[in-house]
Amino acid sequence: MRQRLAVANWKMNGHLADVAQARAIADGAKDMTGADVLICPPATLIAEVARALEGTAALVGAQDCHAAAGGAHTGDLSAAMLREAGATHVILGHSERRAAYGESDAQVRAKAEGAWAAGLVTVLCVGEDEAVRDAGEAEAFVTAQVEGSVPDGAGPHNTVFAYEPVWAVGTGRSADAETIERMHGAIRRALLRRLGDAAEAIPLLYGGSVKAANAEALFALPQVDGALVGGASLKAEDFCPIIAALAAAPR
Ligand code: PEP
Repeated sequence: MRQRLAVANWKMNGHLADVAQARAIADGAKDMTGADVLICPPATLIAEVARALEGTAALVGAQDCHAAAGGAHTGDLSAAMLREAGATHVILGHSERRAAYGESDAQVRAKAEGAWAAGLVTVLCVGEDEAVRDAGEAEAFVTAQVEGSVPDGAGPHNTVFAYEPVWAVGTGRSADAETIERMHGAIRRALLRRLGDAAEAIPLLYGGSVKAANAEALFALPQVDGALVGGASLKAEDFCPIIAALAAAPR
């Protein structure tokens, strides 16, 4: 049985006053045993959030890391630094970073290797933009992203995947069930070809305008093991109903 995971991606949102929301999310989810919770605040808050979550089951993650263990990389953070701050996971290859910084699959893969070396689990993001989808190339594009960004040795102990169509991230326009099923099927097949049987147990999340109103239908899809949530993860009152829907979804 695959892990079920609700991931909060706070992006570049959150100040010290918002650490209380992380604790409220963990408290709200404490009886929802069917779903794990991972909160990824800005790096400045990882240590504070980790402290606030002590004694709860919720985990803390980062939103990016450098591939190298250390050195002359002004402004960057290594996976070991994030681990030391309290992170257990790191999101890599998010579409906003791929778009803003031109991150390639090879860079994402190198970062994943660096993250594993420091003991972090990677949440690897893939997804096509609207032009690729309109050209009928979404499956081929995302399959290539999977093949290019996942290192050898990936398995459920070190890797979570997230399918996040770029046109659905932050737009209020979630992908429909048919699209998600087709794309999750393509990603699972690509993982199985690339990694063999170890790929079967890698959780595969959906991300893109997930909210309480569409969570139940989303988690009813057998190939969806959870969600990567941006806007609706900032407040416990919005995120907890999504976690509850995941915990209650049929297996
Ligand atoms: C995301 O940040 O990865 C995301 C899916 O954002 P949103 O839920 O706001 O679409």
